[in-house]
Amino acid sequence: MFKKGNIPWNKYKKLSFKHKQKLIGSHKGQIPWNKGLRGLQSGKNNPFYGRKHTKETKQKISIANKGNIPWHSGKTNVFSKETLEKMRLNKIGKTSAFKGKIHTDEAKQKIRDARKNQKHVFFSIPERKINSVLSINGVKFEKHKIFKIGEMYHQVDIFIEPNIVIEVDGCYWHWCKSCMKGKELKDMKVINHIKKDRIIDKELKNQNFKLLRIKEHEINNNVLLCLYKIMRF
Ligand SMILES: [Zn+2]
Repeated sequence: MFKKGNIPWNKYKKLSFKHKQKLIGSHKGQIPWNKGLRGLQSGKNNPFYGRKHTKETKQKISIANKGNIPWHSGKTNVFSKETLEKMRLNKIGKTSAFKGKIHTDEAKQKIRDARKNQKHVFFSIPERKINSVLSINGVKFEKHKIFKIGEMYHQVDIFIEPNIVIEVDGCYWHWCKSCMKGKELKDMKVINHIKKDRIIDKELKNQNFKLLRIKEHEINNNVLLCLYKIMRF
């Protein structure tokens, strides 16, 4: 019987070459019990169908798998040409399981809630410049403070007590009028950014925050002038 702490009889033992050959030989010609029975344990047929691992079990599995390196990690030429071709063909025409589906509002909210406490660790270069100039001059501020904007969560670049919010806007992503003069705005991502900016502006104002948007080129041109702007704000 399996008992905790018992050492399996075959641990540390290696089969001799002869013994292996014997084992192989004794099974020759046998048909594996599950041959041709693909999907035998899939879906409702799986004994685990509809059940869930407990948190504890998940933790155990996670620990047990830690440090496991996939057998083909870092290796090349592990698959034969035919296998690779098979894998390729198998993928063709198959679409993502999520294609055409939409998350429910409930699911969306769940995703938002899960993300709300994840602080971005990425700081853009102009952001870093302004952050350091603020620190050097003894201005106390919070980086990437999370604000609730309607149903979404937004991290503002800089928050200064009691109610000042500073956003550092990249000239491309926020389509700075002077830098993007004469260029046509086609990028949907940028269009969405601008839409989001407007919502943020409105919402923060409603929540009695003062918002100052500083453009990337302003910081690059004269960061001290930006500091002055913030101090006077
Ligand atoms: Zn600009």
